[in-house]
Amino acid sequence: MSETTETIFSKIIRREIPADVVYEDDLALAFKDINPQAPVHILVIPKQPIPKLADAQSQDHQLLGHLLLTVKLVAQQAGLDNGYRVVINTGADGGQTVDHLHLHILGGRSLTWPPG
Ligand code: AMP
Repeated sequence: MSETTETIFSKIIRREIPADVVYEDDLALAFKDINPQAPVHILVIPKQPIPKLADAQSQDHQLLGHLLLTVKLVAQQAGLDNGYRVVINTGADGGQTVDHLHLHILGGRSLTWPPG
């Protein structure tokens, strides 16, 4: 079993704090980032609170695949036909600030590389 944590994203899942939700299904939730770094900046999270990618277990493989397909769907819905970036910040050196696995969808402008 993955370790569970209580974060602000758990509160968003339970609708205890507001968020601009753009997609939801049984396994995943997508909502707009409160501090957008691009014209489109959406977070896709599992409802199951895996703290970070490094904590994912082999039994999470279907969920992880579902999250990537959710990214694809949400990006299509957002009209990101010219491309987009998917980011998973992981742990302290990865710049992760919320300990609930989340996939950033960034788009709506031409993004530079490498990131900082
Ligand atoms: P990370 O640094 O990868 O852990 O990303 C966490 C992201 O969550 C940041 O981009 C924040 O702007 C975003 N965030 C934090 N609190 C909220 C919130 N209440 N609603 C939406 N996005 C949030």
